[in-house]
Amino acid sequence: MQEPLKTLKEDNSFEVFINRIATGSINLPPDDLDPEFLERVDLAQPAKEDDDHPAPKGNRAALTRASRYLGKSSVTKRALIKANYLCEYDSSHITFINETSGQNYVEGHHLIPLSFEDNFEHSIDISQNIVALCPNCHRKIHNASFTVKSEMIEKFLSDRIEILKKRSVVVLQEDLIGYYN
Ligand SMILES: [Zn+2]
Ligand SMILES: [Zn+2]
Repeated sequence: MQEPLKTLKEDNSFEVFINRIATGSINLPPDDLDPEFLERVDLAQPAKEDDDHPAPKGNRAALTRASRYLGKSSVTKRALIKANYLCEYDSSHITFINETSGQNYVEGHHLIPLSFEDNFEHSIDISQNIVALCPNCHRKIHNASFTVKSEMIEKFLSDRIEILKKRSVVVLQEDLIGYYN
């Protein structure tokens, strides 16, 4: 089932768009989404980051749509390593060994969605903004009810508020919850 890209752009729903990419129900042209994106996360060299200083924003216009929405795989890689490849919602959520990484399979989720980067002065494509989640929890934070999503967002934000502040990224809980709804 493939939907025309035009419709997706017009429907303006980032969540729907990302979910359709993630579930493979749409196929984007190659320059939009490399089908081997997840493999590239595993193979990427972890980004070198200065955890105590803000990161400058990149030139978003120069990015492919995939990296604009999914972020740099080297940054995601660093976040997954920091999380020990465990689901940060519940570390007992063991999935399977990812053939490429040799580690428990988890996905990187940007707590502050990259589509809201314009609201921030500094880059939010930083490991501090990426939560490692098992595939089930990842779908949950995108697709569950408002109450369930809010509870997850509150937990992750309280875990990260200080380390985000060190990188000059400040977000109010109610604003963050609003980004998801
Ligand atoms: Zn996500
Ligand atoms: Zn989980």
